Amino acid sequence: MIAPIERRLSGLRAQTAAWRKAGESIGVVPTMGALHQGHLSLARAARERCDRVIVTIFVNPKQFNNPDDLDSYPRTEGDDAKKLESIGVDLIYVPDPEQIYPNGFATTVSVSGLTDMLCGADRAGHFDGVATVVTKLFLQTQADFAFFGEKDYQQLQVVRQLARDLDIPIEVIGCPTIREEDGLAMSSRNLLLSDRSRIKAPVLAEVMEDMRDQLQKGEGMQQITEPAKARLLAAGFTQVDYLELRDGQNLSLLDQSLPGARLFAAAWLAGVRLIDNIAV
Ligand code: AMP
Repeated sequence: MIAPIERRLSGLRAQTAAWRKAGESIGVVPTMGALHQGHLSLARAARERCDRVIVTIFVNPKQFNNPDDLDSYPRTEGDDAKKLESIGVDLIYVPDPEQIYPNGFATTVSVSGLTDMLCGADRAGHFDGVATVVTKLFLQTQADFAFFGEKDYQQLQVVRQLARDLDIPIEVIGCPTIREEDGLAMSSRNLLLSDRSRIKAPVLAEVMEDMRDQLQKGEGMQQITEPAKARLLAAGFTQVDYLELRDGQNLSLLDQSLPGARLFAAAWLAGVRLIDNIAV
């Protein structure tokens, strides 16, 4: 059965109040739609852990710093609802924009520190937009558990921090990155790649895996970063925003691999910005 779609906060609240009264736990999976197996893995994890599962679909204008990117972001609501059918989610919350940002909305949630680097350095205001909408979705759904992908690892850390700092009573659960067979991390943005670019895209994960092997052998980022960037550019990527080794908790920059270190990358291919990260 296709889960009911709710577009209004009042409807969402009526539903969650009934579940709470019955003593049922609630899990939320926030998404921007154009669902793929990565999103579905989060919904499955929620299904296993919680009595009730809400998937939210909201293309959040506040987290786009480029209007063209917002316009071109894929929107596939009907297909999304069908894809969720087999998982058996209880509610799909697709808030009308004014349910999230009513007239006169004036509050921003801003997490400092973790957002200064990586995608925060290149995308002004992006994480404020993420933190603000996620805070609203946590408070609107009043979920007990929230499921986020490690695909957006910095976002996962930012969300953990805001829930902790604001005493939001929700447990944030990180789920592994789901990949295509050729290693490309699944992403709604992959739909924007032409067939020719799609063939080149897995080089990003390949380069990162080779870097991981080199780091594990004791090599440092200073030696291996420039050759890796050159490989990406030779493969057809037009720009590398970052290719960095960082601590998996506080995201501080590392040169050599330490326990918990992760490798992070963002690079442009034919006008599409791809990001990935792997544990080293
Ligand atoms: P988005 O719709 O891109 O905002 O993503 C919604 C959620 O799905 C976020 O928690 C993402 O980290 C997660 N997600 C996106 N792609 C993947 C993937 N390939 N594997 C696991 N989770 C993912």
